Amino acid sequence: MSNIHITNPGDLGVLVVGAGVAGLTLARRLSQNGEKVTVFEKSPGVGGRLATRRGEGWIWDHGLVDIQPSDVPPETYLDWQSLGILENRKDQPQLSWICSEGMTQLPKKLEVGFEVIRNCKIDLVRVGPGGKVWMIRDEEGNWHHGNKLVLAIPAPQAELILDGSFPQQMISLKESLLRIKYRPTLTVLGLINRGRFPELKLKTDRIVEICIDNGEKGIRNSLGALTLHLTADYSRKNFDKPDKVVLTEIKNWVKKKMGAEITGMVVKRWRFSQVTHSLEEPFLAAKLTSPLFVIGDGFCGGGIKGALLSANSLADHLLNCSQTKESGRNHAKKNIYSACPK
Ligand SMILES: Cc1cc2nc3c(=O)[nH]c(=O)nc-3n(C[C@H](O)[C@H](O)[C@H](O)COP(=O)(O)OP(=O)(O)OC[C@H]3O[C@@H](n4cnc5c(N)ncnc54)[C@H](O)[C@@H]3O)c2cc1C
Repeated sequence: MSNIHITNPGDLGVLVVGAGVAGLTLARRLSQNGEKVTVFEKSPGVGGRLATRRGEGWIWDHGLVDIQPSDVPPETYLDWQSLGILENRKDQPQLSWICSEGMTQLPKKLEVGFEVIRNCKIDLVRVGPGGKVWMIRDEEGNWHHGNKLVLAIPAPQAELILDGSFPQQMISLKESLLRIKYRPTLTVLGLINRGRFPELKLKTDRIVEICIDNGEKGIRNSLGALTLHLTADYSRKNFDKPDKVVLTEIKNWVKKKMGAEITGMVVKRWRFSQVTHSLEEPFLAAKLTSPLFVIGDGFCGGGIKGALLSANSLADHLLNCSQTKESGRNHAKKNIYSACPK
């Protein structure tokens, strides 16, 4: 690391770790306003917990099932309308949105105007020479530099990559991250051999919380492709059990509760699926010479709404800072977003 020379740190741009809806929303807004942004994503695809699996013509959403319009802030709503890919969910009287090719269509469409480096897991964050740049290391050992760093990943994962060698500002940021809590969700995907099943929302079932037929929801050619989200309690107790234990239980459950056979089953494990305790503020900031921020659904009440409010708040803050600089004032407004917008 000692032989790294950075001549013009101001030109390095913004590094965003995580191409979920929060990271992409932020990257999109900043790049639309002329900022250079690079996003690093550990998976082969973008979207994070907006996740879709395909197989033999069927499509399953296995993360977030749909989007409530009330969860989408006005500036994002207008942007998404212009993409023209959100459709009304077909099996629900109250309005909610899906994409007929699966929820990952939305994040894929958001990826315009900035680079996303895929299959690139960041495992370490460091303040670079002179405290003026951020350095992030990927699993291959390559270092990437930026003059601002944004972690748009679940709080426990953010906490993990911030190692111990930071000043006081970072210690309190790490303590705040530890206050954000998530629940796990086991998701089972499979095919049923008959019938048309409306969505089951099971308030009291011990095992299954939601059971959705992706075709009924409006996904193309996917009638009979079931997604089952298992309860928080069941998911916690069985998270590390072998797939076959969970699959046997779900097979019996589908037979008993739905009178159907389920085949081609797969288990997906979300260790951090939904936030159960979020922070009041819209994002966290470590105010070093070059700033570091954390955004995502750990803020503003959690869920997709929290992730979007958090990303938009930081975008407003950063764009406001750069405008203030350009207009000749020598310091940016401080903490303009100390509370989440409603
Ligand atoms: C089963 C399930 C059901 C849900 N139901 C609802 C619901 O009904 N209502 C609701 O509002 N929300 C729901 N959610 C939650 C919602 O999907 C999330 O709140 C939202 O998508 C979070 O977006 P994000 O961008 O903050 O995080 P993420 O989507 O988690 O994005 C983070 C990204 O960072 C990447 N990443 C992580 N670590 C690294 C690293 N070290 N280096 C590089 N990349 C990294 C990940 O691969 C991921 O792509 C549900 C989620 C799940 C899984």
